[in-house]
This record gives sequence, C-alpha cells and structure tokens, in this order.
Amino acid sequence: MKILLNKNDLNEALYSHSNLGFVPTMGSLHEGHISLIKKSMKQCKKTLVSIFINPTQFNNKNDYKNYPKNYKRDLSILRNLNVDFVFIPKKSEIYNYKRIKKIKIPEKHKIMCAKYRKGHFEGVIDVMDRLTKIIKPKKIFMGEKDFQQLYLVKKFIEKNYKSRIISCKTIRDKNKLALSSRNILLNESELSIARQLSKNIYFIKKKLNKIKDKKKFLLKKKNEIKKIYNTSIEYLELRNINNLQITNNIKKSKLFIAYYLNKIRLIDNF
Ligand code: AMP
Repeated sequence: MKILLNKNDLNEALYSHSNLGFVPTMGSLHEGHISLIKKSMKQCKKTLVSIFINPTQFNNKNDYKNYPKNYKRDLSILRNLNVDFVFIPKKSEIYNYKRIKKIKIPEKHKIMCAKYRKGHFEGVIDVMDRLTKIIKPKKIFMGEKDFQQLYLVKKFIEKNYKSRIISCKTIRDKNKLALSSRNILLNESELSIARQLSKNIYFIKKKLNKIKDKKKFLLKKKNEIKKIYNTSIEYLELRNINNLQITNNIKKSKLFIAYYLNKIRLIDNF
C-alpha cells in the first residue's frame, strides 16, 4: 500500500492507472467504508482511499474540531484490506487555489441537510471537485447512508467529469443503526437510544405502505419520537429518490431523518 501525502506523490503513483476506483472518506473507518472499498476493489484494477476531514463542509467549528480521528487504526485497516493507495493530503494541498465560480445549490435542493446545515453541500461539492480533478478516477464509490450528498455530488461530478458515481448500500448493525464515524461520539445510553430509534424508523417506513395521508402520519410520529427519546428531530420526510421531492407514494421513496442525541447530529434513510 502506497501512502500519498501530496499532489506530486499522487501524480507519480497514478499516471499509468486508468481503471482507478476512488473512495473518499473522512477517516475513522468502519464496516460501511470497508464495504465501499471492497466494491471498488472488485470493480476496478486499482483503488485509492482518501482520508481528508474537509473543513469547508463543517458549518459548526466544534463539530469540525471534535470530528473523530484514528489515522493509525485507519492505516492498519487499509493495509489489511490490501488497498493500493491511500491519499492523506493537508488542507493547504487541496485548498491551494480560489474558485473562480462559486458552487451554488439550486433553491429546489435547499431541503433536508441543505436547509439545516448552511454551506455544507457547497463544501462537499467543492472538495469532491478538487479531488476528482487531481485523482481522475474512473469510478467514485459513495454510500446511500448520505443519500442527499450522493445525489448532489453525482449531479455535479457526472456533469463535469468522465468519472461515474457508484452508489453503495448502507451497512447497519443488527439493531438497524447505520454505521457512522460519529457513533464513536455517543455514550452507551445515547447509542442505545440511536438503536431503538433506528428500529422504530425502519418499522415506520414499513408501515407507511398502508397509510393514506403519509405527511400527517409522519408529523404525528415525529412528535411521538421526540417525546419518547427526548431528542430533537430536524426532519422526518418521505421523499422520491429520483428528485428528492416530498411524496405520498411509497414507490421509489426513502424516509429521511436527521436528529440530535445530546449534541451529536445523526442522519439516516430507510
Ligand atoms: P465519511 O467518512 O462519513 O465522509 O463517509 C465516506 C463515505 O462512506 C461516504 O460516501 C458515506 O456515504 C459512506 N458511508 C458512511 N457510512 C456508511 C454506511 N454505514 N454504509 C455505507 N456507506 C457508508
């Protein structure tokens, strides 16, 4: 496994590889990331994993400061997987030029996380643009766990580059809780609430089939969940997966949720 720390390393290592799979991450790797890496290694000749905690996508300084870091453990996981390249750039390596044209999210997409985390997706698209430009992967592997991110990045990257975005299923624990680097920040009782809540949302999605007025039903459930688990929920919405508009039709839909446990913000979709 080659560890690449800057663009020179990157150019030297990658110049002869055209069938490259790229898995962008912010580190603190778990089975979710590993499933993306394994898919890339199956579909592509070489695989590059990046570990970069992108400052521009954090709309909250403390969230950025407290984001979990486990470089040693990450490298050992990647080595065991036999990954070809790991790219760990410094901030200055990625943000070494100013954009001429600002990244803008269209009004119709200022929903869910784009509404509650101002500037977040602009930061995600900015870094994905910068990384794709220098890595030039054939395929980029991203998780459905962050479905809105996957949706917006796919739109941007596939319009501007030859690289294709490959979506990957969400990996969960046996209680339906989606694996996330942020789960490390939860204490035992918060983790237990997150598991119960995830199961609850999973069953709500199943039940939605039989409900006529889904919007009204979800509003009721949102209030119930808030009370039961003493959490604040930003949104609990059924949306069409092709355009992310609110829908009353269960076909091609996902139930999206964002909630806080203590100060940790978690998102998921079923
Ligand atoms: P992150 O390190 O959180 O920025 O995530 C890096 C990539 O891993 C993103 O494409 C995520 O959607 C994906 N990912 C995170 N958690 C999971 C999971 N539980 N299952 C599948 N993919 C995931």
